[in-house]
Amino acid sequence: MEYVEHVVDLVGDTPLVKLNTLNAGAATPVLAKVEYLNPGGSVKDRIALRMVEAAEASGELRPGGTIVEPTSGNTGVGLAMVAQRKGYRCVFVCPDKVSEDKRNVLEAYGAEVVVCPTAVPPEHPESYYSVSDRLAEQDGYWKPNQYNNASNPESHYHSTGPEIWKQTQGRITHFVAGIGTGGTISGVGRYLKEVSEGRVRIIGADPEGSVYSGGKGRPYLVEGVGEDFWPNTYDREICDEIVAVTDADSFTMTRDLAREEALLVGGSCGMAVAAALRVAERADPDDVVVVLLPDGGRGYLTKVFNDSWMASYGFLSPDHTGGSVGDVL
Ligand code: PMP
Repeated sequence: MEYVEHVVDLVGDTPLVKLNTLNAGAATPVLAKVEYLNPGGSVKDRIALRMVEAAEASGELRPGGTIVEPTSGNTGVGLAMVAQRKGYRCVFVCPDKVSEDKRNVLEAYGAEVVVCPTAVPPEHPESYYSVSDRLAEQDGYWKPNQYNNASNPESHYHSTGPEIWKQTQGRITHFVAGIGTGGTISGVGRYLKEVSEGRVRIIGADPEGSVYSGGKGRPYLVEGVGEDFWPNTYDREICDEIVAVTDADSFTMTRDLAREEALLVGGSCGMAVAAALRVAERADPDDVVVVLLPDGGRGYLTKVFNDSWMASYGFLSPDHTGGSVGDVL
């Protein structure tokens, strides 16, 4: 019989999918590493698994313990999945601006969700940072802290990076990824630079205004990437280049990925692909560009894939509205 013991055993080994229509103008192939095919639906399954296993090994997380993290998104799902497999409790602390759908997903996996007010500064005792810190001080609680946990980039150094090298038979010349905690780009980047003896170029994609591309952290709408501070998980030496992408370009490309390549993915994927296509335009035909797509698009149906939401920010060009069936009828 062919089966795995548990769904967690399916984390990693995601495929590379070639972009066709969107890259039709360039001779250089762009291959997308499709991370929504992880069992929890995102690249964060990888870090969840490694952070938990490292904490077990170090004794920080003991049998029957509780995992507490300020997250509402992909990292929460990954942690909830791994926690369930290993018999830990999970408490996620999130601000009240987080959609009910996201909270429901975490609860569906059996996690507890504590909701805190958004309208207070981080140092306020009721902020979601303060609440998660207080919880984490309790006996039996462990906080992974994805922004300050070496297992985050290490998971990519040990899994994502080697997978890409093997899948491209060492022919990759450019790696493009968005930067949130910086774990993905730092871990994959370090592995690819080492194994290729510095030949692979590492390109960070960043929302315009974030610190990584020289901004001050001005608000942008793409989720999961860009910061207003420098996390320890980001290796500031790793990128050869950072490409800043506007919200409009990120979201337009996200919709194009669904429409043209049948890849229903999140907004940070559109951002990374927008950067990757720019890289491919100026690359040599023998080059191979790999771009990492962190998550799927179902969590963004009421935003990126909603015409009214897009139009309210002026992101909708006439090419990207719904079909014209209404006109015919
Ligand atoms: N895209 C999405 C949707 C994410 O959730 C994250 C993680 N914050 C990233 C991109 C960036 O990945 P990393 O944290 O490894 O830099």
